[in-house]
Amino acid sequence: MKEAKNEEILETDYLIIGAGAVGMAFADIILEETNANIIMVDKHHKPGGHWNLAYPFVRLHQPSTYYGVSSTELGENGKDEIGFNKGLKHLASGAAINAYYDDIMNYKYLPSGRVKFFPMCEYKGDGKFNSLLTNEMHEVKVHKKTVDATYMKTKVPASHPPNYTVDASVNFIPINGLPKLTEAPSEFVIIGGGKTGIDACLWLLEHNVNPDKITWIVSRDAWLIDRKNLQPSEEYLEDYLQYLALQFEALEEADSISELFEKLEKSGVLIRIDQNVKPQMFRGATISKLELEQLRRIKNVVRKGRVKHVSKDNISFIEGSIPVKEHFVCVDCSANALSHAKSKPVFSKDTITLQIIRGIQIVFSAAMIAHIETSDKDEKLKNELCKVIELPSSDTDWLRMLLGTLVNEELWKEDENLKMWLHDNRLDGFSDLVANISEDNKKLQALVNRIESSKKPAIEKLKYFEAELS
Ligand SMILES: Cc1cc2nc3c(=O)[nH]c(=O)nc-3n(C[C@H](O)[C@H](O)[C@H](O)COP(=O)(O)OP(=O)(O)OC[C@H]3O[C@@H](n4cnc5c(N)ncnc54)[C@H](O)[C@@H]3O)c2cc1C
Repeated sequence: MKEAKNEEILETDYLIIGAGAVGMAFADIILEETNANIIMVDKHHKPGGHWNLAYPFVRLHQPSTYYGVSSTELGENGKDEIGFNKGLKHLASGAAINAYYDDIMNYKYLPSGRVKFFPMCEYKGDGKFNSLLTNEMHEVKVHKKTVDATYMKTKVPASHPPNYTVDASVNFIPINGLPKLTEAPSEFVIIGGGKTGIDACLWLLEHNVNPDKITWIVSRDAWLIDRKNLQPSEEYLEDYLQYLALQFEALEEADSISELFEKLEKSGVLIRIDQNVKPQMFRGATISKLELEQLRRIKNVVRKGRVKHVSKDNISFIEGSIPVKEHFVCVDCSANALSHAKSKPVFSKDTITLQIIRGIQIVFSAAMIAHIETSDKDEKLKNELCKVIELPSSDTDWLRMLLGTLVNEELWKEDENLKMWLHDNRLDGFSDLVANISEDNKKLQALVNRIESSKKPAIEKLKYFEAELS
């Protein structure tokens, strides 16, 4: 259909493309720390990005305490008392996350009079976007910056078709279809070993499906992080500090990368589902001990590489195939949530490209970049403080991610303003807790000392291993 051009040229200080978690976290800091106004554009009808398409039983895998936007808590701050996350900090559900972003837009951003939101609109470049419903084309004059909050290109099964073929006769569903099943299949075949595949398996087990009825196709096993070690609370502070100390000490002591991973596993810094299979992947996913126990109940785990084709009789891989039972259901969990776009400078003239500047802390990174944007630092210094960490994928990306995080954090520590900001920002999670450890708490102080004395050698070793890898 022919586009209708809106003659009015809109004006704004910041044009943010994408109102997902990242765009929302950036906007929040601009609203809190400046007088600037903002236009946000998104293809979805609501803010929240991929959470709008999420499967009904999705939850965060990290505590809600440090997710969302800086100014507003997300849901319950307490601990789960039931379920496989029992005893650990609450993980907001997809529904709660969607409601949260909707409320923030409708009760905070829009009433401020400083934000205009254009949902159901697609950005076309050069300050132009059009409505997906009317084709009306809008043009924006941007006074300060255009902010690309789409760069990480999060993929979820509902938005991404699988990269294998499936016969029409197969009962093939995305993970979103699981709660819609009305008949028990003979077998559940879950394709995907990442966070989505884990969620599908856990959901089935939680609903009393016999683990022997689950076939789990895992192309690559992943190293996982024990969620207990990333709990931003006094109760779990010792676990967190111990986790940091152990990883730095493992680095200090290891003479090779393989020895390092052995030590990381032995000390509980990294965990794997099957002790007999060497993980080749690291995506920063966290897991609780109870979830791990559950997943280990599934014995039929197929590791034959990538799936090529699914027919009603078998599933074929590049090499070999496995038979399936009549009336099985095949659940696609293969979308790789985080893409691996090549990193680029965050600040480049009149454009900001939101990327990760602290390992697996996506929303924190967007907020921190916004805070640095509000400073009077020049572009070079801003980029130095926001060195991009590419999203992890392979096992050794664990090293790259940690090194990038530590290098950035060491720089932030030298800047008093940034240090204070980190202590006050809820998305940071831990800085304030650590800074407030009492002098009398000998146990925690001893851990802090271990961290401090092993951090520098750990950074050196990371640099050494990184050079070896490249
Ligand atoms: C199941 C799952 C669980 C997760 N759990 C956690 C967790 O516990 N903690 C954590 O930190 N992270 C978690 N993540 C990572 C999560 O992806 C990020 O936290 C975050 O939601 C990513 O947000 P985003 O804004 O980068 O991407 P998106 O949510 O994809 O948002 C980007 C937005 O940009 C819009 N857009 C793209 N192109 C255009 C265009 N041309 N014009 C207009 N709009 C456009 C899209 O419509 C979309 O709304 C999880 C991810 C998944 C999939």
